[in-house]
Amino acid sequence: MTNHFPTTAREIRDAVASRRVSAVEVCRHYLDRIAQFDGKLGAFRAVAADRALEDAARVDNENAALPLAGVPVAVKDNLCTRGMTSTASSKILEGYVPPYDATVITRLKQAGAIVIGKTNCDEFGMGSSTENSAYGPSRNPWDTSRIPGGSSGGSAVAVSAQLAPVALGSDTGGSIRQPAAMCGIVGLKPTYGRVSRYGLLAFASSLDQIGPLARTVFDAALLLKIMAGHDPADSTAASAPVPDFCEALTGDVTGIRLGVPAAIIDEGIDQDVRNAFSQSLEVLKDRGATLVDIDLPHARYAIPTYYLVATAEASSNLARYDGVRYGFRASNTGQDLRAMYTRTRAGGFGTEVKRRIMLGTYVLSAGYYDAYYLKALRVRTLIRRDYERAFERVDLVAMPTSPTPAFALGERLEDPLQMYLTDVFTVSAPLAGLPAISLPCGFSSRKLPIGLQLIGRPFEEAVVFRVADAYERATTWWKEQPRVRM
Ligand code: GLN
Repeated sequence: MTNHFPTTAREIRDAVASRRVSAVEVCRHYLDRIAQFDGKLGAFRAVAADRALEDAARVDNENAALPLAGVPVAVKDNLCTRGMTSTASSKILEGYVPPYDATVITRLKQAGAIVIGKTNCDEFGMGSSTENSAYGPSRNPWDTSRIPGGSSGGSAVAVSAQLAPVALGSDTGGSIRQPAAMCGIVGLKPTYGRVSRYGLLAFASSLDQIGPLARTVFDAALLLKIMAGHDPADSTAASAPVPDFCEALTGDVTGIRLGVPAAIIDEGIDQDVRNAFSQSLEVLKDRGATLVDIDLPHARYAIPTYYLVATAEASSNLARYDGVRYGFRASNTGQDLRAMYTRTRAGGFGTEVKRRIMLGTYVLSAGYYDAYYLKALRVRTLIRRDYERAFERVDLVAMPTSPTPAFALGERLEDPLQMYLTDVFTVSAPLAGLPAISLPCGFSSRKLPIGLQLIGRPFEEAVVFRVADAYERATTWWKEQPRVRM
């Protein structure tokens, strides 16, 4: 590999378009890196080497001028990819090969991108560490004894360790932003409705969004532009026009008002995270942004609200996995249909998924519905109103992405509540339907990445990207690379 080998999506598509490098060479480069490092990291559930090389050759021959020509993309395993297994890292979907592509996959392929493989995740996106995968955890490239975050951990690891230049994840309560923060890369959760979810294996339908993980803000903006927009196959995909997010990256943040909810950033937060956060605010202030104190009085209810709404929706969405038409089916159940259902679900779902199905069914059941589910919906409205009120005075809200850097593998597995508390800063944006980005803003004393989160008004990803890009231009955190020892 020469020093000039292109490593971002932007560099790759430019190099492919000008024939400085072929899409096939790019693809081989990443397949080699996967072969070299993924045994240690466990980012991928499946690698589509032959198919990726064929697709790359086709790009070289026919489509070298497309906006993502020859750009390899690693795809979270809860997105349907035609002809490639798509299991959401669950045993219940073992061996499932969808007959269709998710809309985001179709759009990326049409733009010349190459699906290089499927990435490991927490089962059905339920977790914050990628340890809830039925197929074993992924490891953080900055310290392989630690978790990469979750649930899109495999996607974040792939981008961070340069096993792929960009990746797709899904975010229900933080699953793109939190692993991006812990692996030192950029991750964006778009506005609810910005991106079609056709072909996403659903977790919680009022929260789920698909979004990009990348090393630069430009790459994330480039991917979102191609993925976003109305889709007749998903009634929740908004018809709002999709601006050219890359053009929004002017480097100028003068006049931007940045809301800082100081009251929620104090309690129980790692000192290194707090320091990195304050320093990143100073950087943005130096660039011309104004810092404004804001209050999000209902933010402290975000975790319980999220874990009621998300589990209720999950219990309903996951009812479809019955062993009848696809995926895993328990054997030895004879002619007894009920036994087939029960044993299939008992054997096919992991512990955390079962916990959530039970909790979700409970909060939706007669007698408890009003006390839990309905109440959670009401508090969700209050959380959204807090943001609406804040956005009357500010353009963006800033907070850390995660209260701590990556923790050790196994550290929180026995204590679900500790695991849930990891999401304290990420669940409110999806509850309010808002776009939010995480970008690298420093390192802990143990050289673990820390993420800065910027939350925007609905459908104002352009503003989120512009400020994030200005921050990226003013700093060098994003340039640092983990050194993976085999
Ligand atoms: N960590 C959160 C959860 O476990 C969020 C997961 C996600 O965004 N998919 O539900």
